[in-house]
Amino acid sequence: MKEILEIQKKAFIQDGEPTFNQRKDRLERCIALIETHDEKIINALNEDFKNRSKGEILTSEISQSVRNLNFTIKRLKKWMRPQSRPSSFMANMLGSKSILKPSPLGTVGVIAPWNFPVGMIFYPAASIFAAGNRIMAKPSELTPSTADVIKEAVEKYFDVSEFSVVLGGPEVGAEFSSLPFDHLLYTGSGRIGKKILSAAADNLVPTTLELGGKSPTIVSEGVNLNLIAKRIMFVKTLNAGQICLSPDYIYVKRGLEKDLINALKETFNEFFTEKNLDDYTSMVNDHHFERMDTYIQDAKDKGAEVIDLSPIDDSNKNIMSTKILLNVNDDMLVMKEEIFGPLLPLKVYDELSEVVNYINNHDHPLGLYFFGSSRKEQDYVINNTRSGGVTINDVMFHLMQSELPFGGVGPSGNGHYHGYEGFLNFSNLRSIYYQTKVDTIFGILRPPRKKSFEILSKIMKKLS
Ligand code: NAD
Repeated sequence: MKEILEIQKKAFIQDGEPTFNQRKDRLERCIALIETHDEKIINALNEDFKNRSKGEILTSEISQSVRNLNFTIKRLKKWMRPQSRPSSFMANMLGSKSILKPSPLGTVGVIAPWNFPVGMIFYPAASIFAAGNRIMAKPSELTPSTADVIKEAVEKYFDVSEFSVVLGGPEVGAEFSSLPFDHLLYTGSGRIGKKILSAAADNLVPTTLELGGKSPTIVSEGVNLNLIAKRIMFVKTLNAGQICLSPDYIYVKRGLEKDLINALKETFNEFFTEKNLDDYTSMVNDHHFERMDTYIQDAKDKGAEVIDLSPIDDSNKNIMSTKILLNVNDDMLVMKEEIFGPLLPLKVYDELSEVVNYINNHDHPLGLYFFGSSRKEQDYVINNTRSGGVTINDVMFHLMQSELPFGGVGPSGNGHYHGYEGFLNFSNLRSIYYQTKVDTIFGILRPPRKKSFEILSKIMKKLS
């Protein structure tokens, strides 16, 4: 690994900053490698998960990665353009120039999780390559077949000095995160995120952390429950809830809970029948399937009621339908841990302030969702909580907006990718100043200082 980083660092210095065309070419090669390996990706993901919906792979992993890369290519020239800024101390009038130039950082290390093994490398790769960097990526060991395909595809399209893929588990991850990268992007749990930060700190490597958390979904009054149920279940059933932005729990206005549960049940059974079960993704492995069972048993032991939305569960294939949990409390694992699976606790509120207080008494979530038409309530929730992003009257859809940056805040992460802010996140915002030939003003500043210096220092205070 060290040798690969050395090769990339040497190439970075030798080749200088990549031009627009070189960056575009790298982004286009990412698209080509994804598109020429789509069948292999689908097969590999199905080996890794036992069953992974083909439709979901085509949208979430393939089209979404390509869409984001294409979006980046279209805007890249504009983003790369250095910005001219006025110089201070009247120096601009004397011929000086101040320029802000987004410059590449060098090599960015990317540590990816298993839930979207392709997307979690290629969504950020768009921002990283756009900013003129090189990439060393480490996919998750929990999706080994997909990791092999990614490595094979990258090696076909890229020299190791531009983009390299390293395989392995936590030991390799630990070594990888201690390399002196120019930036390290980690996507995964906060538990490992702490180890990553500590390893990166030894070399003062700047980091972007894309973490998870418990994203709340608030359902207020005056809403169409059938429509809401479709919107919630579309995302909750995607990847069987194994999404960082999946609705983790629902907080519903008292009186609406029964109708909402019925609508959620109806929706699940409309989405998935015996005939199209291969469109419903398995839990990634036995451990994560059993983790859900542990949460259910723990919640039941502590007084929760579990409502199964469908009888499709199959432990041989690690398939588990969405389950609503009622009467939950914070002593239960299901309310302590990020669920990252098909369980959906449902709490009831009387006053919206109870929900806002609950959210504020827990880690800032990655996503926050509010269903309700009152502008006052929407503003109250937005202005009195913190979260990485917000979607109003749907869940997760802020992620789909290419022009909006994506990231967390505090315990749900820091830094961004997507869009212009993603490009800036992986750029060094370099300030470049071209001094004027005229020296009069600057001459006055130097010792031995005369009366004119005092006058100038008074003027300087007023000049911004
Ligand atoms: P994880 O933390 O177990 O693993 C992620 C990566 O870290 C893997 O590549 C793994 O090999 C590596 N790793 C494990 N131990 C390591 C160590 N000691 N040092 C360095 N690297 C190590 O996370 P996960 O279970 O793979 O992913 C689930 C989590 O990821 C959830 O919390 C989810 O919310 C979050 N997530 C966040 C986003 C986002 O964009 N914010 C996206 C997807 C998933």
